[in-house]
Amino acid sequence: MPKMVVDGRIVSNTEISVNVKELVLYAPEIAAQAVPGQFLHVRVANSYHPLLRRPLSISSADNIAGTVRTIYRVVGQGTACLAALSSKDSVNCMGPLGNGFAIHGQRPLLVGGGMGLAPLMFLAGALCPRPIEIVMGGRTKEEMFWKDMFHVMCNTIHVTTDDGTLGSRGVTLDVLPDLLKNGAFDMIYTCGPRVMMEGIVKLAKEYDIPCQVSLEDYMACGIGGCLSCTCAGNDGSRKKVCTEGPVFWAQEVMP
Ligand SMILES: Cc1cc2nc3c(=O)[nH]c(=O)nc-3n(C[C@H](O)[C@H](O)[C@H](O)COP(=O)(O)OP(=O)(O)OC[C@H]3O[C@@H](n4cnc5c(N)ncnc54)[C@H](O)[C@@H]3O)c2cc1C
Repeated sequence: MPKMVVDGRIVSNTEISVNVKELVLYAPEIAAQAVPGQFLHVRVANSYHPLLRRPLSISSADNIAGTVRTIYRVVGQGTACLAALSSKDSVNCMGPLGNGFAIHGQRPLLVGGGMGLAPLMFLAGALCPRPIEIVMGGRTKEEMFWKDMFHVMCNTIHVTTDDGTLGSRGVTLDVLPDLLKNGAFDMIYTCGPRVMMEGIVKLAKEYDIPCQVSLEDYMACGIGGCLSCTCAGNDGSRKKVCTEGPVFWAQEVMP
């Protein structure tokens, strides 16, 4: 699939929660190609500082409107630069990069932690009208703005928060064993903190359910040249998260 470098015109860059923004870009070339799981590599400023692009998952693409959407947390210099832009600006984007999720099975279970829910949004849209169940976890109620966003696409939503301010107190892994015992899931998709995904993969193995993970390792070039994002593959090779991922079958890269 061709990768493009385009100047995406900002349609909106809106705060949707504390330190979280939703960026909608008019980038019809990318919107026409993007599939769930892929990401944009965004040049956050029109200068060499910061030098490196920042990877952001595509949360949805609208081929008719020609727009792509990302949802990002402001965590450092790069995302702060992006947050300062407004609808009169453009951002230079490379994309759509990486591979996509396999649209597989009839009873999918999605498990997302924190900003790991961003790529799962695009996926949930593509999985409709299958009955989708999702487990979403975050630190507090304020972080769970995701619930309203997934509402229209998912039949059942389970929320966990570390502090118990929304849903059940704890982490996504706490609710998984009961769900897997009682559900008839034939596919699991997950994105979030590594430790969460490792726990989910272990359970998926136990219940013999195929599982895909989306990795969010640090990366620099985004196109397979610099090797800074490689991770250990179970076949003994190094896997490039930017080009061979970010989506992998669990057995390719997880213990
Ligand atoms: C394929 C991919 C998709 C991503 N999708 C999204 C998304 O949809 N929404 C979103 O909010 N973020 C996403 N990220 C993470 C995002 O790229 C980083 O948060 C961003 O690059 C940070 O840039 P910064 O300059 O603001 O922060 P920096 O100054 O670079 O770092 C600030 C803090 O964030 C931590 N950090 C930076 N990058 C990462 C990372 N990749 N993983 C974990 N911690 C990190 C650093 O350790 C540091 O503590 C994705 C990452 C990848 C690889």
